Amino acid sequence: MLLDTFGRQAVDLRVSLTDRCNLRCTYCMPEEGLQWLGRSELLTDEEIVRLVSIAVTDLGVTEVRFTGGEPLLRPGLVAIVAACAELAPRPELSLTSNGIGLARIAAALKAAGLDRVNVSLDTLDPEVFRTLTRRSRHQDVLDGLAAAEAAGLTPVKLNAVLMRGVNDHEAPDLLAWCLAHGYQLRFIEQMPLDAQHGWDRSQMVTAGEILERLGTRFALTPEPSAARGAAPAERWLVDGGPASVGVIASVTRPFCRACDRTRLTADGQVRNCLFATGETDLRTALREGGSDAEIAALWRAAMWGKKAGAGIDDPEFLQPERPMSAIGG
Ligand code: SAM
Ligand code: SF4
Repeated sequence: MLLDTFGRQAVDLRVSLTDRCNLRCTYCMPEEGLQWLGRSELLTDEEIVRLVSIAVTDLGVTEVRFTGGEPLLRPGLVAIVAACAELAPRPELSLTSNGIGLARIAAALKAAGLDRVNVSLDTLDPEVFRTLTRRSRHQDVLDGLAAAEAAGLTPVKLNAVLMRGVNDHEAPDLLAWCLAHGYQLRFIEQMPLDAQHGWDRSQMVTAGEILERLGTRFALTPEPSAARGAAPAERWLVDGGPASVGVIASVTRPFCRACDRTRLTADGQVRNCLFATGETDLRTALREGGSDAEIAALWRAAMWGKKAGAGIDDPEFLQPERPMSAIGG
């Protein structure tokens, strides 16, 4: 098992398949100038499957989420999903994507064994989309969402980050739109994980503000906390339910005490937290012929050292060197 000194067990593995992306969301990446991982640094498809296999069969991981960068840019994605779906015990398999290209591949992903997707969409306005992502691909995301629903990659979840003065007025519209389409919406507080280190606490749209804005149009009642488990989103029933909306308030209401995650970067480093400043190299062990037991031992040791909390609001807080796009969000 992947335990830490605070008694938490990591059962949810996030695997970053690439650090590259076809968007340039302002809260995530600069327009240009980011150094990408080199080809030889990236794990191969076989190496990824081997590490996921060790996590599932030796270390108690029950859920695997593929992310990035943009995971749909990984040519071997369908084969990786299919191989992970063969593992015993079979893990839950999901994907976090910006949705571009999902229309083309959703049915193949479902057939390969993918269970669900989260698609990131911050706005209903194509012009605002262009401002936020620096690309004119709004319709591609809408098409991707519809294809995911049609392929049965459900429930389709939608992630939205609100930026002050850009799309923060859209919170109620986004919720109304998701309710109409049957998508589950979760707002994510902007975190200090952008590659350009431009995050400013005073500019961040807080969970409190998001709820206030939603409250102008909807009656929100908290879902019982027992239903939350280790999920990072706090959820509210909308107009009495059964539909709900989530808020992931990593900055103002951190949920580290219940964290059950472990992370593998596209270059084979284990991170015990998004905000960890250190990581453990599994790629070298893998390429030097390490056995499953040796690699599992390295992974266990990496998780054992997990800190109690991310400490974003702590004056001593240091932003990790790797941006979110290179860790896997
Ligand atoms: N490219 C895919 C996507 O956008 O869904 C997967 C990777 S992305 C890093 C994963 C999630 O992290 C997205 O929902 C994105 O909105 C979110 N994200 C990126 N940078 C963020 C930041 N600085 N604060 C909060 N969420 C962020
Ligand atoms: Fe790409 Fe996702 Fe980062 Fe946007 S949030 S730039 S889609 S990795």
